[in-house]
Amino acid sequence: MIHTGRHFLQIPGPTNVPDRVLRAMDQPVIDHRGPEFAELGLAVLSGLREIFQTKGHVIVYPSSGTGAIEAALVNTLSAGDRVIIFETGQFSNVWRQIGERLGLDLDYVPGNWRRGASAADLEARLSTDMRHAVKAVVVIHNETSTGVTSRLPELRRVLNRLRHPALLIVDAISSLGSIDYRMDEWEVDVTVCGSQKGLMVPPGLGFNAISEKALGANKSARLPRSYWDWQDMLKHNRTGFFPFTPATNLLFALREALKMMNEEGLATIFRRHVRHGEATRAAVRAWGLEIVCEEPLEYSSSMTGVFTPEGHDADRLRKIILENFDMSLGAGLGKLAGKAFRIGHLGSFNDLMLAGTLSGVEMGLRLAEIPHKEGGVMAALNSLTPAAKMREPVKVAR
Ligand SMILES: *Cc1c(COP(=O)(O)O)cnc(C)c1O
Repeated sequence: MIHTGRHFLQIPGPTNVPDRVLRAMDQPVIDHRGPEFAELGLAVLSGLREIFQTKGHVIVYPSSGTGAIEAALVNTLSAGDRVIIFETGQFSNVWRQIGERLGLDLDYVPGNWRRGASAADLEARLSTDMRHAVKAVVVIHNETSTGVTSRLPELRRVLNRLRHPALLIVDAISSLGSIDYRMDEWEVDVTVCGSQKGLMVPPGLGFNAISEKALGANKSARLPRSYWDWQDMLKHNRTGFFPFTPATNLLFALREALKMMNEEGLATIFRRHVRHGEATRAAVRAWGLEIVCEEPLEYSSSMTGVFTPEGHDADRLRKIILENFDMSLGAGLGKLAGKAFRIGHLGSFNDLMLAGTLSGVEMGLRLAEIPHKEGGVMAALNSLTPAAKMREPVKVAR
């Protein structure tokens, strides 16, 4: 079938790349050892600090987010180190697998995939760890497989109350640039991110933002590393360069995306995502479907996981929507395969794109004959344009 107009890429990453960013990439490659490059490198490295809300260093790898996860672990830990990882969903499983392969001693805290990391569980584990055997605590800030955002400040408070020196390592791959994230205020030691979600850049860049404490841990960390080594990067980054060939055109893209984020302002970006999350959940509730996240304080603003009713395959629904309306939705991952689908509402996005997205879902529910109530799209529109606003008299400029 021939599709016209734009494809709707409503998976929770990679996300839609703005035209401005695409055009910024469409440039001749420059000499990565020349003076023009240094300017690009320094601009990007300093712009990233504002997005992570940190005064520390940010390292940029030509890699996927998974590469940046490996980098965070090999730069801070040694074989046999005890590490707590909270089971929040498929992406915490990824961290566990990497940690196991690296020979870490993992304490994988069980979770039901519908809630975030529990401060009570952290407290129970750390309060008995008098000898500080636990070297790091890993949390997925926004679990992309479920649409649950963990409450990092509460976890930080537990570490501080117990004066526990473990590093706090956070995967912010699907929250940075869309959900409020404060690296320094929350005393996060390593933040891992990727380019293709909230940052509106194509896939291909991985990030580690690093605290002073993490830099200290790096000195004694003995896991083998070469390509991922922070020290080589930091040495070259001081002058805006990289120890090897960087992904030059993705850095052009990132520079433009950072400029766009700066124009909109972080607070406005976060509010926009909150609004779109609320409108999406209003639609899901009106359809009578169940949201995967069961804790309202942990609803994700960047994406929403939705269960299809028992006996109705979520992948068949996604296939019908793709074929009929040219829209990609996220699949249920891991144990949610076939049972849930995910609506991405992050990155370069607006009210009408959300209305279109939810219309595609509602038409898909009809075509797939999945039992649901009508009016989800209308509920979302009402959420986006509250009646009180509509009653205000329209002021006409003279
Ligand atoms: C997307 C994502 C990853 C994996 O990133 P890749 O770029 O696919 O390697 C890891 N963690 C979270 C939370 C993600 O959203």
